[in-house]
Amino acid sequence: MIVILLGPPGAGKGTQAGAIAEKYRIPHISTGDIFRANLKEGSPLGLEARRYMEAGALVPDDLVVRLVGDRLDAPDAAGGALLDGFPRTVAQAEALAGYLARKGRQEDHCLCLEVPDGELVKRLAGRRMCRDCGAGFHVDFSPPPADGRCAKCGGQIHQRADDQEATVLNRLKVYHEQTSPLADWYGRRGLLRRIDGQGSVAEIQSRILAALGA
Ligand code: AMP
Repeated sequence: MIVILLGPPGAGKGTQAGAIAEKYRIPHISTGDIFRANLKEGSPLGLEARRYMEAGALVPDDLVVRLVGDRLDAPDAAGGALLDGFPRTVAQAEALAGYLARKGRQEDHCLCLEVPDGELVKRLAGRRMCRDCGAGFHVDFSPPPADGRCAKCGGQIHQRADDQEATVLNRLKVYHEQTSPLADWYGRRGLLRRIDGQGSVAEIQSRILAALGA
């Protein structure tokens, strides 16, 4: 099963993705996580992506499409995948559909998590993350330990460079201009389910599982 998780930055895609991937036993593929891991390693891909990410802009389509194609070719994705943060442009969605068709596969569901912009800015600007294991915190809703160290792995808690307010506003602008048209694109193909992304993590999870028919 191939599930696409669509929604603006801060909508909770990463938070919900783990549970869906676990339930359907499919890998969670987050292009943002892949870029961040490459950046941390200092790989050529990470260095190439860095200038776009730090400005809150999108990494060029051809680079992302190649990366996801390679990832979907891996044996653990043979039975499907949960795509989080990809596609983000109509060109990426078309490339994904073409790639899947060539492999005799297709997308099964596109879930769009919807949250108003004002709420997203609050969520993102307060978000903190462990540099090592990626565990998430929020200064108001789930404060990180006072010593600035992750309770799970001891890693350093930090604010993602692209969660600073000016960059957040640019990421939202980019989302509305380039990514939100994808909801209609998948809607026309009968794959879209809109999910209210406000409420507790458990409430949103049950809306998602209901939409997937679980
Ligand atoms: P995310 O963690 O999904 O918010 O992604 C962080 C950053 O990685 C984005 O702001 C983009 O710069 C880059 N990125 C992630 N996924 C994509 C994509 N599908 N297309 C282009 N850029 C992406």
